[in-house]
Amino acid sequence: MAIATVNPTTGITERSFEPHSPEHVERALARAEDAVSALRSTDFATRAAWMVRSAEILESEVEAVAVVLTTEMGKTLRSARAEVQKCAKNMRFYAEHAESFLADEPLADPSTVGASSAFARYEPLGVVLAVMPWNYPLWQVIRFAAPALMAGNVGVLKHASNVPQSALYLDTLFTRGGFPAGAFSTLLIDASAVAAVIADPRVKAVTLTGSEPAGRSVARTAGESIKKAVLELGGSDPFVVMPSADIDAAAAVATTSRTGNSGQSCIAAKRFIVHADVFDEFVAAFSERMRALRVGDPLLDSTDVGPLATRSGRDELAELVDDAVAHGATSVVGGTTPDGPGWFYPPTVLTGITGSMRLHQEEAFGPVASVYRVSSASEAIALANGTRFGLSSAVWSADPAEQDRFSRELDAGAVFINGMTVSYPELPFGGIKDSGYGRELAAAGIREFCNLKTIWKA
Ligand code: NDP
Repeated sequence: MAIATVNPTTGITERSFEPHSPEHVERALARAEDAVSALRSTDFATRAAWMVRSAEILESEVEAVAVVLTTEMGKTLRSARAEVQKCAKNMRFYAEHAESFLADEPLADPSTVGASSAFARYEPLGVVLAVMPWNYPLWQVIRFAAPALMAGNVGVLKHASNVPQSALYLDTLFTRGGFPAGAFSTLLIDASAVAAVIADPRVKAVTLTGSEPAGRSVARTAGESIKKAVLELGGSDPFVVMPSADIDAAAAVATTSRTGNSGQSCIAAKRFIVHADVFDEFVAAFSERMRALRVGDPLLDSTDVGPLATRSGRDELAELVDDAVAHGATSVVGGTTPDGPGWFYPPTVLTGITGSMRLHQEEAFGPVASVYRVSSASEAIALANGTRFGLSSAVWSADPAEQDRFSRELDAGAVFINGMTVSYPELPFGGIKDSGYGRELAAAGIREFCNLKTIWKA
């Protein structure tokens, strides 16, 4: 895939970049290794000051950065601004909390292990490679970088080939904030060059957010060289609506969850599992809202849904919908690729999904909702869990016992009750099954790339 900014609104290639040469990559890794030593001698307060300064720089450049995001992958300018603000918030969060998250853990009674003192200490691993996707060009990276740098690790970024300007902005952000040269840097390289970077002895671990095939490939290489990996892959999150739910509120939140970022979010609700008692009411309310969304130029404040990021992504989504309709699904809203420039796809609601359709098993990475009818909580849980993914989930119910049952029986990394899945710096984030392993954010996220060293003293 060429390393280039191709504007999804027009289809026009705006800028192309030569991949970094092997010599450039070598120099970057050498600088990264130097930065490991430089960071080791810094304390939390120093790194926190640099992190806050980096957040301030990012906030002061919100307008320019937001335009880059919109130009490179088509999200609305409104949502691009919100992404920038969320990144700054995460940077401040880790600046404030890293030290307490990584505080020594003393054993209350060291005599039980025959010691005068015994404790565990979190130490940074060193250089961590981040392989990141285009859907949240800043957030996906900052979600990793803020805790990693605050722990004293060094980050090397291989960003998706269609967001090179976002990648280059991130290349300098942290050094502009005060971090030493090489503490965080971008490699403009092809996916085929990633394995060699993972295998490089200076690289100690890898984190990837993206598709299953990319995750399998990175995990395989990391496994061969016995390096820690965190994988955040796709999802096909269920959104369950039970009879006691506030149907109008559920329909409103369902619309936001399915169409935010033009539906290109791993934690978007994708399968809407609705109890028969409220099925017609929910489908009517949901369809009305999906139909009312304004699709168009993402730079305009009046636009709700911009184009998809790539032509191939749009074509794959259209194929999934066409396959479902060919096998008997009903398209209640949308379902047709529009003519004209840009990779637009309309908000779409499909009912009558069956097991013979690809949409039943595959992730729909765009604003396409599959709505299922069930007749009990047990059936809803079985259908929700009947997927190889296990990222997050949502359930709408006013019944505390039912809420509790869903929270226990849904096989996923998270359950959101009467709301939609959102990633918060304060809460752990990650999946199970084919959605990956490891956790980002909160205390769990900063500890992933640490050596929990045991210190025992006679
Ligand atoms: P990819 O997984 O291909 O891309 C994500 C990142 O991984 C990019 O930096 C990419 O580089 C890199 N990459 C791809 N293949 C390899 C590999 N074999 N070894 C190492 N690195 C690799 O996502 P796509 O853009 O192709 O999107 C396809 C699907 O992935 C989507 O439809 C969606 O299902 C899922 N996805 C999930 C995301 C999430 O948030 N969980 C985000 C984006 C996509 P390069 O761009 O150079 O290929």
